[in-house]
Amino acid sequence: ALAAQVRTFTGPGQTADGHRVELLANVGDPAASKAAAAAGAEGVGLFRTEFAFLDRDEAPSIDEQVAAYRQVFAAFADRKVVIRTLDAGADKPMPFLAGDGEVNPALGVRGLRTAAQHPDILEDQLTAIARARAAESADVWVMAPMVSTVDEAADFVAACARHGLDHAGVMVEVPSAALMAGPILAHATFASVGTNDLVQYTMAADRLLGAVAHLSVAWQPAVLQLVAATCAGAAAQGRPVGVCGEAAASPALAAVLVGLGVTSLSMTPRALADVAAVLASVTYDECRRLAGLALAASSAADARATVRGELPVLV
Ligand code: PEP
Ligand code: MG
Repeated sequence: ALAAQVRTFTGPGQTADGHRVELLANVGDPAASKAAAAAGAEGVGLFRTEFAFLDRDEAPSIDEQVAAYRQVFAAFADRKVVIRTLDAGADKPMPFLAGDGEVNPALGVRGLRTAAQHPDILEDQLTAIARARAAESADVWVMAPMVSTVDEAADFVAACARHGLDHAGVMVEVPSAALMAGPILAHATFASVGTNDLVQYTMAADRLLGAVAHLSVAWQPAVLQLVAATCAGAAAQGRPVGVCGEAAASPALAAVLVGLGVTSLSMTPRALADVAAVLASVTYDECRRLAGLALAASSAADARATVRGELPVLV
């Protein structure tokens, strides 16, 4: 019933002149992966695994995790599934990992930083991912949230390699990771920009706080400059960059992201058809021109108005 409400997208995603852009789905549990497959997503660009850990007194067993991950991999047989390791902390608190009364949880032990204090949780999760992958045919990529240094990236990639997981990447959600994308991607095989957090950390604006919502906009030229820096660093290493934050679901912004050099966009399945339609209406050169206009704007409102004014399909 849920799938029927979603306008089906028939891929593949591409610009008017055939420049490929993978259009992928964000999924938060096995049921969502079935709806995403029904909506026509080419794959999964962000499989959030927090659902398996929420509302529990302790971490799920390896077997429980394998069973859950297999369902998502099975829904995307022979297709790409990017699974993210646990992103606990800040806006996703986990009782059994209680960060000891941190004053600034968004700047504290969250995402991959949790692994330094609870190495067993990452180890078990990578074990479960490797087992689930061996049992299914999906093309499984693994990525870590909240990476902020080259060393963190290198350690994560090495941990994945010990489990036979060779497609190991990082989320770029912190300005330091965007600025260090080149050296980070000398280790990691791909990057995925999490614009929700990248906006939060670039603008110093809590993503959950209404009073600063006017700052929390992915059209901010500063944020777009960091996406451009990520793409430049990745290009130097020959690595792909995706976007899996909410920005990817905005059709006009999607065209800008493609123009900045992003090669896949991952979003809520209901956005796929609209994003695909706008991309099909512009050439890659036009996307690059739009990206240049957005980068040169002096405000988020300016960037958005200028780009939207240039996209007849939106007018
Ligand atoms: C993001 O930060 O953009 C992202 C995709 O991750 P989450 O929203 O789960 O923090
Ligand atoms: Mg995030």
